[in-house]
Amino acid sequence: MTHNSKQPCEPRIAVYPGSFDPVTLGHIDIIQRAAKQFDKLIVAVLNNLSKNPLFTVEERKELLRQTTSHIPNVEIDSFRDLLVNYMDDKQGHVIVRGIRSVTDFEYELQLASTNQKLNPRVETIFMMTNPKYSYLSSSMVKEIARFKGEVVELVTPEVETALREKFNNID
Ligand code: ADP
Repeated sequence: MTHNSKQPCEPRIAVYPGSFDPVTLGHIDIIQRAAKQFDKLIVAVLNNLSKNPLFTVEERKELLRQTTSHIPNVEIDSFRDLLVNYMDDKQGHVIVRGIRSVTDFEYELQLASTNQKLNPRVETIFMMTNPKYSYLSSSMVKEIARFKGEVVELVTPEVETALREKFNNID
């Protein structure tokens, strides 16, 4: 009997971590493009108590689920552990991050270098923003929505509604 030394191919799993408070069209663009490159893309909401989020982790996950339901290989999750440990738990190979500017790059380089040191098994890859979203951030969206400005071209209708409800309840 001939022995086939080839192992069955492991699925390529990537993790896109972030605050997603809330998810914007810039994030969705990265999710769509990254999902094409891997067997599975886990979008992981960071449960970080030191930031002061507008939406709870559950709300952020629900908005991500609604806005990515058309992409079959995307899974929504959250984590509070160190990212590199979470990568081990999920058997993830690659961390995906988006870059909008030189300012993003400096911070991301520091983050990727630290993660590389902590867990050399895991690679970080960067995806350049779609130029039409290069100025777009969750904090800008929140600022506009807080003052009842128009966010239709920045987020999905579900997120727009959630922002309106949130600020109506706060004000
Ligand atoms: P974090 O607090 O981890 O920066 P964010 O939710 O703000 O979380 O962003 C998550 C990731 O998405 C980061 O890599 C960020 O650079 C990227 N990102 C945010 N907005 C955009 C955008 N408009 N275009 C491309 N990437 C983006």
